[in-house]
Amino acid sequence: MTTRRKLIAGNWKMNGLKADGLALAKGVAEVLAAGPAPACDMLVCPPTTLVALVADAVAGSKLAVGGQDCHAKTSGAHTGDTSAAALADLGCGYAIVGHSERRTDHAETDAVVKAKATAAQAAGLVAIVCIGETLAQRDAGQTLEVNRRQLRGSLPDAATPENTVIAYEPVWAIGTGRVATPAQAQEVHAAIRAELAAILGAGPAARLRILYGGSMKPDNARELLALPDVDGGLIGGAALKVADFWAIAQSA
Ligand code: PEP
Repeated sequence: MTTRRKLIAGNWKMNGLKADGLALAKGVAEVLAAGPAPACDMLVCPPTTLVALVADAVAGSKLAVGGQDCHAKTSGAHTGDTSAAALADLGCGYAIVGHSERRTDHAETDAVVKAKATAAQAAGLVAIVCIGETLAQRDAGQTLEVNRRQLRGSLPDAATPENTVIAYEPVWAIGTGRVATPAQAQEVHAAIRAELAAILGAGPAARLRILYGGSMKPDNARELLALPDVDGGLIGGAALKVADFWAIAQSA
């Protein structure tokens, strides 16, 4: 029997100014408080500019806050970057690392992602480590191999079910409206869990959460979240509307 509590995480990406970010975060915290309580944890990851504002606004609620990235170093000459300790200091409990947009826009390698995840954990944050194949890799039959390789390369050495979440995000499904079929998602999630078992042992692998990300919406969430190895969602577009994000949480 699985003991994994689902996690519904919103990745706001580079969206929102103070007023709409605040309204969105408060809206989610309010529906969460009003109930019925969903059978999942809920998290929002605003842009760095809004983290302090959002964290203050939802402090004391059941809504967790996370960063979308962090630097591998704790401090120093890294203009424009944000340390994991600074995110924790603002009230974050999580940091996304290795999102495909970071891997593409900032040329982040698995080694960089691993260093960032390690830094997040050292600061007391849960690292949400993103992996996923491109369409070309899927079409070439390399899906499982690519995900296994990214997992091995990006997973911190001290990963545990408590300090790490994996997000499987097929690149071709992110922001495209094209979603993995349940069979495609389950196949990759099961392969990731098997690889985790080989790295961490069967016990920890059975408890570590693996999220699906890629055009998850209210109308496809129930089917995806019912899959045996899907332990929640990392949600972009649909996390920008309270009603949609809440509807996804309700189907968890
Ligand atoms: C994401 O940002 O991680 C994501 C999955 O986006 P979307 O839900 O918009 O595809």
